[in-house]
Amino acid sequence: MAQIRIENVRKEFGAFTAVQSSSFTIEDGEFFMLLGPSGCGKTTTLRMMAGLELPTSGQIYIDGEEVGQKPASQRDIAFVFQMFALYPHMNVRGNISYPLKSQGMKSADVNKKVGEVAEILGINDILDRPVGGLSGGDRQRVALGRAIVRDPKAFFMDEPLGALDAEFREHMAEELRALHDRMGATTVYVTHDQLEAMQMGDKIVVMNHGVVEQFGVPQDIYDWPATKFVAQFIGSPPMNFLEFEGMIGTGGTEVRLNDVAIQVPASREGANGKLTFGVRPEHVKFDDTAEYRGRVIATEYLGTTQIVTFDTPNGLLKARVASHEAVNDGQLIGLGFDPRTITLFDARQGRALR
Ligand code: ATP
Repeated sequence: MAQIRIENVRKEFGAFTAVQSSSFTIEDGEFFMLLGPSGCGKTTTLRMMAGLELPTSGQIYIDGEEVGQKPASQRDIAFVFQMFALYPHMNVRGNISYPLKSQGMKSADVNKKVGEVAEILGINDILDRPVGGLSGGDRQRVALGRAIVRDPKAFFMDEPLGALDAEFREHMAEELRALHDRMGATTVYVTHDQLEAMQMGDKIVVMNHGVVEQFGVPQDIYDWPATKFVAQFIGSPPMNFLEFEGMIGTGGTEVRLNDVAIQVPASREGANGKLTFGVRPEHVKFDDTAEYRGRVIATEYLGTTQIVTFDTPNGLLKARVASHEAVNDGQLIGLGFDPRTITLFDARQGRALR
């Protein structure tokens, strides 16, 4: 197991900066997600931690030792690639034992270790099968077996489930997480899928354009997004943004959206200028007594809940409400907001006001 710390790590490819100065710590045994849209720099960050790419500047520590300029072979880690390239001419046992044999381990020890790994992964019964005819799931397990057999300090995975169909992906995600919980090895996992990150991760780093936007536990990132980017990237449908200009706190704790006063947390008092009022769809409540109203323009049925889209004086707004709420197109509905669930952002910088 290992603690991994990156400090002011930056990566340039020629004139292009793929990762801006980034710092965060991955604690021993954590399942840690690097999340962001395509091209945001998450793979490059992972590759630098793994030693497959050298940082332009900054430090990388594994268990306190600075390894930033050391190659992968000197870092005692295992990399699981998206495309599980197994050795096609070997059977399952051959594939899993290969890393141990190439280290010169004795046959008896190799067999014992392969047996343990097969037990953990539940693949005892296919050890002598050729890998060619295996199902996608079994190929995945064999590839994992090959990665875990060496007992590395940490695992690095780059979209390992990316090539799988949705149902199977979910199943493998659960298996991976369960495997991690049994083994407890530090795991760093790249994904562009916010749901996968929320479901599997102990902690998440959200990146955009080479910048770390936020770092924390999934619930804090969801409840307290640090930037508008994070608020939109996480959650489906994403957080609603209503733009307004003004000053908060003339009387203390309200904003005026088109002359309707809406309560906001007292801590946001004093903010002014172009601001964004952020509220998640599940926190928009139907409230007959509310002055702020929206006109229903669409509904989307999702089983137990429905997504209702409103036209409001400040733009479109989506609410997630119970399906049994009767809603008709064109209806005007009062909308209530619990101050504790509102995030205010500086509209220009996109940063949350705390
Ligand atoms: P994806 O999910 O699409 O792989 P990512 O977030 O993992 O995206 P990276 O692969 O880290 O992003 O790439 C970040 C940026 O750096 C991209 O614009 C990419 O084109 C660029 N980049 C990555 N590797 C190189 C390289 N070897 N040379 C030049 N540019 C590179």
